[in-house]
Amino acid sequence: MGIDAHQHFWIYNPGEYEWIDPSMAMLRRDFLPEDLLAQLKKSGFGGSVAVQARQTLEETRWLLELADKSPNILGVVGWVDLCSGECRSQLRAFSANPKLVGIRHIVQSEADDHFLLRPDFLRGITLLEEFDLAYDILIYPKHLGVAAEFVERFGRHRFVLDHLAKPAIRSGEIESWAKGIRRIASFPNVFCKLSGLVTEADWRRWRPEDITPYLDVAFAAFGGSRLMIGSDWPVCLVAGSYDRTMDVVRNYLQGHSPETREAVVGGNARQFWRLKD
Ligand SMILES: [Zn+2]
Repeated sequence: MGIDAHQHFWIYNPGEYEWIDPSMAMLRRDFLPEDLLAQLKKSGFGGSVAVQARQTLEETRWLLELADKSPNILGVVGWVDLCSGECRSQLRAFSANPKLVGIRHIVQSEADDHFLLRPDFLRGITLLEEFDLAYDILIYPKHLGVAAEFVERFGRHRFVLDHLAKPAIRSGEIESWAKGIRRIASFPNVFCKLSGLVTEADWRRWRPEDITPYLDVAFAAFGGSRLMIGSDWPVCLVAGSYDRTMDVVRNYLQGHSPETREAVVGGNARQFWRLKD
């Protein structure tokens, strides 16, 4: 069964989704499990992992409620305040729900480029092992060096890099990003999502060939057993349909063994988060 390793839900309001600027006007509406389900079925995916988009406990609670009601939501990557003294009690409360599989913080938006190495943040990350939760690393290419120093401290944690660290596909820059990817991939406990790539390309003019060189780097660095396909729906819709987004990776995989195809399209996500379907 195929698994979409990265998607979002929201009930839209302008105040809490300021990042949805006028160029993304089509995202200014609600996106709920019933909207995704039709897409998943049409594209042959059996389930998904819902990822936080706001940094509130209330959203984590809401995503877990949705997951309880929707068997197609196989797991939730939520948010807790990792830097806070309350972190352990927040983790304890949410991890009572087996659908909580990971935690994410929107590190890409932090003013401090060394945020991942802040002592209070590191203390919060340390706790994740106790609750058997993975961590989603959401960063830009400029953070890859710091991210490698970060994962190096936690040999037993499960990490997954979101969106290949958002390479600059639009401008075609690849070399320094590729170096950073190879370094972070050298840590065997780091997986990576092949998601969010169409939105880093030219939204109106991208072709799959623009993305291929970045996938080549990802497969050379991580191999077929640590990569997972994800849509980043509904954000992907600014650059293309759900199917067209997923086809970038699915078509690329035609050149790989059936085992690798199955792993990237679902098996790796299932294993990484220990999803039950
Ligand atoms: Zn996303």
